[in-house]
Amino acid sequence: MDFRLTDEQIDFQRHCHEFARDVVRPAAARYDREQAVPYDVVGEARARGLHGLDLLQRLASDPEGMLGVIYAEELHWGCAGIALALSVSSLAAAGVASSGTPEQIARWVPECFGVGEEIKFGAYAVTEAGAGSDVRSLRTTARREGDEWVLNGTKVFISNGGIADVTVVVATVDPKLGHRGQASFIVEKGTPGLSMGKKEDKLGIRASQTAEVVLEDARVPLDHLLGGLPKLEAKLERARSGHSGGSSNALATFEVTRPMVGASALGIARAAYEWTLDHLEERSDEHGPLLEQQRVQQVLADVATEIDAARLLVRRAAWMGRNGVPMTGGQGSMSKLKAGDVTMWATTTLMDLVGPEASLTDHPLEKWFRDAKIYQLFEGTAEIQRLVIARMQTAERRAARTPAPPEPAPDANGRVDADSARRAVRSAAAAPADEHASAARAGR
Ligand SMILES: Cc1cc2nc3c(=O)[nH]c(=O)nc-3n(C[C@H](O)[C@H](O)[C@H](O)COP(=O)(O)OP(=O)(O)OC[C@H]3O[C@@H](n4cnc5c(N)ncnc54)[C@H](O)[C@@H]3O)c2cc1C
Repeated sequence: MDFRLTDEQIDFQRHCHEFARDVVRPAAARYDREQAVPYDVVGEARARGLHGLDLLQRLASDPEGMLGVIYAEELHWGCAGIALALSVSSLAAAGVASSGTPEQIARWVPECFGVGEEIKFGAYAVTEAGAGSDVRSLRTTARREGDEWVLNGTKVFISNGGIADVTVVVATVDPKLGHRGQASFIVEKGTPGLSMGKKEDKLGIRASQTAEVVLEDARVPLDHLLGGLPKLEAKLERARSGHSGGSSNALATFEVTRPMVGASALGIARAAYEWTLDHLEERSDEHGPLLEQQRVQQVLADVATEIDAARLLVRRAAWMGRNGVPMTGGQGSMSKLKAGDVTMWATTTLMDLVGPEASLTDHPLEKWFRDAKIYQLFEGTAEIQRLVIARMQTAERRAARTPAPPEPAPDANGRVDADSARRAVRSAAAAPADEHASAARAGR
């Protein structure tokens, strides 16, 4: 096991950091104040290969899965709101990738970013009033009428809501079936019946637009159903006949994005920590330089250790996700939970260390403190992450107690036939996978 980054990962980290330092940081205060979409910063990111399809391809090229979390940490170090504005489209793309057919992925993922110099945005719309943690209770409906799907409902708190060129909407086609009656639909900008509701005025991440998305008899063609009709009908049929299994599209999407969200939070914590170190370096009191006083060292050591511990969890989950290692112990949720809690705690603790001046509105720590809070609230609240982890841990323990499936029999030459090996792996994975689904159903 080698914990060091490769030369390629270090080069990419440097490239992201320079963009964050030279372009994102200088723009941060203005966009935070104006709560506007940072189109110029997105354009510069595109020019540097840090937004769009080229970036996605580069992130996917890393066999260790580290480039995505490096990108998230460095850009959020610059400004969490701007970084989120740059990366929300990836959530929409993940929604397409987790449920779409290969043809749909090829068609709609580029539409979430735009191609060449044309910049587009995507949004992923799941949450409704009363259905955030509990995604089973979605009330937005999709009804088939001839060659179209007709969508009705209101989504709340949608990042890029109202400005997205492509909105992936999770709706129910059969409310009685809970999450198993849900499907994802592509709704393009300009679709009659699609409109923006209230734009939210937020505590933090203010450069990222958050708004309601309203669907009033919004009609989309049949092929805008992600995964296609036969797959949906088979899923509904299985659910109606009482077969278990299968997690929701929304939950599958959130699972793969959790380490990225954890890394994003860590960017804020690191920014606050580094700023505080530099700030204290220049200061002394009657007991001498602050950085040499034990009361200060105790706090800084704890902050550094917690950030590092959270980063290890984030990188482990990113590696597992990239290498197809099932996160049956809740490792994705652990990474997001720990990083979110560490970031909120670290920004608060560092404000305490610096003193009351850190609470003034033009103080950098004040902004990092405001930006930190959302990481305990969205993409699964901290409480929901704890529920998922506890249930997955229990399920994993129970699975470990059940007898192992038979080893695939070797042939006369000692080789194992590929089909029987695959069957053995599947049967070994089946129990935890089902338990995973039921744990995740408790909430995202
Ligand atoms: C800035 C911002 C951007 C967002 N972007 C998006 C987006 O792009 N797309 C999208 O679909 N959504 C988005 N969301 C929504 C976000 O993911 C939800 O708000 C979040 O999942 C919580 O859901 P909720 O609002 O229904 O809260 P609730 O689920 O009502 O939670 C309220 C409180 O109850 C607790 N709670 C709920 N259930 C349990 C339980 N079973 N056990 C213990 N505690 C529980 C929660 O932890 C929380 O503290 C965004 C939200 C914000 C604020």
